[in-house]
Amino acid sequence: MDRNFDLIVIGGGIVGLATAYKYQMAFPGHRIAILEKEDHLGAHQTGRNSGVIHSGIYYKPGSFKALNCTNGRKQIVVFAKEHGVAHDICGKIILATEEKELPILQGIFEKGQANQIEGIEMIGPDAIRDIEPFSRGIKAIRVPVTGIIDYVGFCKKLVELIKARNPKSELFLSTQFLESFREDGKEGIRTNKGNFYTQHKIFCAGLQSDRLARKEGAKPDLKIVGFRGDYYELTEEARHKVKHLIYPVPDPDFPFLGVHFTRMVDGSVECGPNAVFSFKREGYSPKSFSFKDTFESLTYPGTWKLFSRHAGQGMEEMKRAFSKKLFLDALRKMIPYLQMEDIRPVRAGVRAQALKHNGDLVDDFKIEKFGNSVHVLNAPSPAATASLAIADEILDMAGFVPKQKD
Ligand SMILES: Cc1cc2nc3c(=O)[nH]c(=O)nc-3n(C[C@H](O)[C@H](O)[C@H](O)COP(=O)(O)OP(=O)(O)OC[C@H]3O[C@@H](n4cnc5c(N)ncnc54)[C@H](O)[C@@H]3O)c2cc1C
Repeated sequence: MDRNFDLIVIGGGIVGLATAYKYQMAFPGHRIAILEKEDHLGAHQTGRNSGVIHSGIYYKPGSFKALNCTNGRKQIVVFAKEHGVAHDICGKIILATEEKELPILQGIFEKGQANQIEGIEMIGPDAIRDIEPFSRGIKAIRVPVTGIIDYVGFCKKLVELIKARNPKSELFLSTQFLESFREDGKEGIRTNKGNFYTQHKIFCAGLQSDRLARKEGAKPDLKIVGFRGDYYELTEEARHKVKHLIYPVPDPDFPFLGVHFTRMVDGSVECGPNAVFSFKREGYSPKSFSFKDTFESLTYPGTWKLFSRHAGQGMEEMKRAFSKKLFLDALRKMIPYLQMEDIRPVRAGVRAQALKHNGDLVDDFKIEKFGNSVHVLNAPSPAATASLAIADEILDMAGFVPKQKD
């Protein structure tokens, strides 16, 4: 088999696949290889997320996140309609249940206006009950453009379209990037399945992104830290208590949105995710542990600075990870009628969150060019929503396709 490719994308998550797709559409004659170390697509963040198409309401106006979330949301909805990917723009509410949350809610509303999120409105208790009859709150933002989607289905469709455009492009599953090399003037990649050759590499390795960047000789001032999120689901008998998506008012000091209710495209309703420091980057149980991951995290000064700043929240999250009752208490703030027997544990995901040396979480998306390669170093939520727009940024940065200006 010819192992020479015009472009190699490392990582078969949503960001890698969206990038490969956009590249293939721009250069139909070029051959792409996508290397994915797992034996199926979406094994990590992409297949373990909440399945939400975010509106872009939360993010700092003008940031990469805000711009690419809004742009990516519009692109993904067009794509899903055109290619039959299961989705539903069902809308959501961000629900304030206490007076003290109102200034934060107002701040989110103003950001939403600055980010030009279509159709947002502040609503009171009666309108809240009309939308979500079982929830209780004093005020909420209704966000009509938020939706849900089958992200793994989206990824499979991207691969199908890449192959249709150029049958010589290939997805290599169970193929782990080990290192790059240069031999007789030729650039190559060593994997567990032999060598590949290319001039151009795009690294979209999610939870491993910092490690692969360092292997390439880059020195990013960050380390990926995993934050596990556990999900419960509502039992069949309790599903009627949630009609759409219900989110709490998030803690502004924390980059996560708080445990929320999400109706999924298959009709189930999930509750979560919490956010617990993970002792294993790709570990999905509260007991998962990797010596290498833990050692690296705990010898990094940023981790301790982060811990000391958020010690209280961290402990609460840790306790909640082991207590169904505490998890239920957080959910009951929004739906007081929820009972212990209404929820059951279902799955978990781990967020790849870049952390700086000084303990600051890298809030925005971070993509860097290093030699002939582009590295996606921080692509946390809403990167699934934004994936098609992030792909445009990557191809622009790599010098392949200039980004269209709005
Ligand atoms: C719990 C949770 C909930 C979320 N909810 C949402 C949401 O509702 N909406 C939203 O927009 N975003 C959400 N996100 C964020 C979103 O899922 C991620 O931002 C997005 O999936 C990142 O995609 P990725 O391709 O960068 O990473 P990943 O999906 O993690 O993919 C990276 C891939 O690289 C592969 N890889 C790593 N190292 C190598 C190697 N050496 N060789 C080959 N392959 C390698 C991995 O196996 C993996 O498949 C959520 C994330 C989590 C974890």
